[in-house]
Amino acid sequence: MSEAIPSELPEEYRELAATVRDFAEQVVAPVSAQHDREHSFPYEVVAGMAEMGLFGLPFPEEYGGMGGDYFALCLALEELAKVDQSVAITLEAGVSLGAMPIFRFGTEEQKQRWLPSLAAGTALGAFGLTEPDAGSDAGRTRTTARLDGPEWVVNGSKQFITNSGTDITAFVTVTAVTGETERGKEISTIIVPSGTPGFDVAPPYDKVGWNASDTHALSFQDVRVPAENLLGERGRGYANFLRILDEGRIAIAALAVGAAQGCVDDAVRYAKERQAFGTHIGGHQAIAFKIARMEARAQVARRAYYHAAALLLAGKPFKQEAAIAKLVAGEAAMDNARDATQVFGGNGFMNEYRVARHYRDSKILEVGEGTTEVQLMLIARSLGL
Ligand SMILES: Cc1cc2nc3c(=O)[nH]c(=O)nc-3n(C[C@H](O)[C@H](O)[C@H](O)COP(=O)(O)OP(=O)(O)OC[C@H]3O[C@@H](n4cnc5c(N)ncnc54)[C@H](O)[C@@H]3O)c2cc1C
Repeated sequence: MSEAIPSELPEEYRELAATVRDFAEQVVAPVSAQHDREHSFPYEVVAGMAEMGLFGLPFPEEYGGMGGDYFALCLALEELAKVDQSVAITLEAGVSLGAMPIFRFGTEEQKQRWLPSLAAGTALGAFGLTEPDAGSDAGRTRTTARLDGPEWVVNGSKQFITNSGTDITAFVTVTAVTGETERGKEISTIIVPSGTPGFDVAPPYDKVGWNASDTHALSFQDVRVPAENLLGERGRGYANFLRILDEGRIAIAALAVGAAQGCVDDAVRYAKERQAFGTHIGGHQAIAFKIARMEARAQVARRAYYHAAALLLAGKPFKQEAAIAKLVAGEAAMDNARDATQVFGGNGFMNEYRVARHYRDSKILEVGEGTTEVQLMLIARSLGL
């Protein structure tokens, strides 16, 4: 089986990955199938991740974080996603989409107010960009926020928002049109705390996968929040959210690599045991080559996200590399999930097998945080096309 925690990584990263891997196998794996079947949010697993400090990984200690970095978060996501993508996306969205906008763009007061509980994992923030008529083309946002004296009045709707309706969701940050400029819409970001009158969270979606992840449509009807809930500069909301998505793509790529590698690991184990035509099925070259190709996909995608993360940590441009990592990792996860279910034969179609869950879960990795086509658009643009 592959060496999933490469030996050239510095010791502290290797230790973190090994600790998260133990947690994933001992705490997450035993309850995954049940949460998937019942579409229930894994509060006890989230509490365990919180206790380990995973929600605070990339934040400084002064805000209750662990003083680590974005790559540490990626390693944790990879290990979790091998076992359970719903748990991994709960952490990814909580940290990189929920807390990170506050950390990157918040005032000192906003950071002091929100970050300690987000970093502790006792609260979750959500990221409200997508709308019924604004997905890939997120600049088409129709939600509005009008300043009325000391308050913003928010009206509109969002859809498919992760972590937006749990018992511990503290707020959603939403992009909203706050005016017109000579260049078009002025889009800003507003923090809307959970429970604010007029802010409604629809019942959970009936999804194909990521069943234990919390996803809702949201509506805002004359929702009043204080003027100081503006996050970042007025008119910079869209640009700021795009920056968050750029780095979020590295985290999603890491999650997808975990899914791709989880499929390899399960397929190797199964191919060594399952007998057909006088040998274990891995003894048939067609199966061995299929799994070899799966391993190659996972390794190439891992290199791609390591590279993008290294650029991010070095303060260098990383937009193109993040898009490439997201593209190849999302496709690797989906391709490996399809091939792993083939290796498992009829069992691969049974929900009790983890590869079946990966098969349902992985499709969204070619869609969420920018579809495959959006990644290709970004890469093409970076080439001047
Ligand atoms: C489970 C789940 C969780 C999510 N979590 C969040 C969240 O927390 N916050 C959030 O804001 N959003 C979230 N999303 C939304 C997600 O980011 C969007 O679904 C995604 O960006 C695609 O937007 P769309 O669904 O509107 O598809 P569309 O934009 O309508 O795209 C439909 C198809 O057209 C293609 N397409 C569109 N434009 C072009 C073009 N110019 N060239 C070529 N092809 C094109 C797309 O690639 C896609 O294949 C989530 C979605 C899901 C399903």
